[in-house]
Amino acid sequence: MKHTNFIDREKLYGLLENNTPAESELNDILNKARKLKGLNLDDVAKLLCVEDETSIAKILDTAHYCKEEIYGKRLVLFAPIYTGNACVNNCVYCGFRRDNKALKRKILTLDEIENETLHLLRMGHKRALLICGESPRNDADYMVEAIRRTYAAKDEKGSTIRRINVELAPMSVGDFAKLKAERIGTYVCFQETYDEVEYRKFHPAGTPKGDYLNRLTVMDRAMEGGIDDVGLGVLFGLVDYRFEILAIMEHARHLEEDFGCGPHTVSFPRIEPAEGTPFSLPENIPHPVSDKDFMKIIAIIRIAMPYTGIIISTRERPEMRDQLVKYGVSQISAASETNPGGYEEENTGAQFTLGDHRSLDEVISMMIDGGYIPSFCTGCYRKGRVGADFMDLAKPGLIKEYCKPNAMFTFREYLEDYASPATKEKGLRLLKQLTQTFPKEELKRRVEGNLCRIGDGERDLYF
Ligand code: SF4
Repeated sequence: MKHTNFIDREKLYGLLENNTPAESELNDILNKARKLKGLNLDDVAKLLCVEDETSIAKILDTAHYCKEEIYGKRLVLFAPIYTGNACVNNCVYCGFRRDNKALKRKILTLDEIENETLHLLRMGHKRALLICGESPRNDADYMVEAIRRTYAAKDEKGSTIRRINVELAPMSVGDFAKLKAERIGTYVCFQETYDEVEYRKFHPAGTPKGDYLNRLTVMDRAMEGGIDDVGLGVLFGLVDYRFEILAIMEHARHLEEDFGCGPHTVSFPRIEPAEGTPFSLPENIPHPVSDKDFMKIIAIIRIAMPYTGIIISTRERPEMRDQLVKYGVSQISAASETNPGGYEEENTGAQFTLGDHRSLDEVISMMIDGGYIPSFCTGCYRKGRVGADFMDLAKPGLIKEYCKPNAMFTFREYLEDYASPATKEKGLRLLKQLTQTFPKEELKRRVEGNLCRIGDGERDLYF
């Protein structure tokens, strides 16, 4: 299939000129958003132009409504495994870039990958994201072995990783088909910036990543290779964040039109300082995104693409993460390390510095205090409810029947197997309260039944 550029740069920047909505127009857009059917490009451009506090508060309020309606109190947890930090590219903002001589390089062996996986399992994780720089040393064949070894690892309690997502450099349709055969979940690849002119400044020519179109069309190749679950993202701070949000909307539209299914997730990283990388220092970031604007854009994506997962990482500080969860974030990484061998406390170079250093138990304890349900659920993926099927399922009522019970089952497993006594005690109390919230008696009984079975030692139950 011929791959073409679907981002009209001039049009998107044009939509951001003098486009602030009148109050009645803003209200119309937000009322439309409350129907949970998403927004179009023009609506989103108008919301992005909103600057005054009162209007922003209305956007946040609408996002909170949509989040609660669709996701309820569930929050999915995962952790990355950095399999290597060698990279042939030279992205100016990244600690892994080729010219960063300050970095100690490492590609994990399969035994080391297994070891990192065991560290995650012993914390209680069930979902891992395999991630690395771009290097011939971690090509698709290496990743196939890495995926196999990660799925095969089993801790003393018999736990295994149940879903592996991968964040890898663009590859060919044939290589995507190889990954698909290994049962990967989501394929993630950030465009970094959709602004082609600026893209060239951050990604030097002569490196694989210097080819804008090759990166822009990577999801097309992933879908042609059979992967129907893809994750988009940009690195906020490179160009005007408003342009990036419109471009993400356009990317989602392109995937829906050509492949019948939009992105499963959108990730929201902001540039963070990285060792030996002056560009990443706060004073050098070309378009820093303030906390206030960051909250606004997460809220806008939540209401514009209500069924798409929104991911933030441990780049963000705990206070910020807790706020963002309220307005749209549905998945967070927890207790992460961003260097290969980091869970084993190897002193290799990291991609960026972390803003959240809490342990998984501490993160979960705080989630319980906020009434959130920590979820390690992988039920949909393992029942084949992915891609377009997932989008059909992702209607509020159905999510409540599947996702909420499944989240509760994985939460109970965590409490039984890995939680500290204090976390376990308050977690069990929360589960008891949650069980009472199912309006249908039959569903309530089935949920109670499974929770008891897990308490009695059964594992991996899901609807
Ligand atoms: S952003 Fe990715 S491709 Fe660029 S230098 Fe870092 S690891 Fe390599």
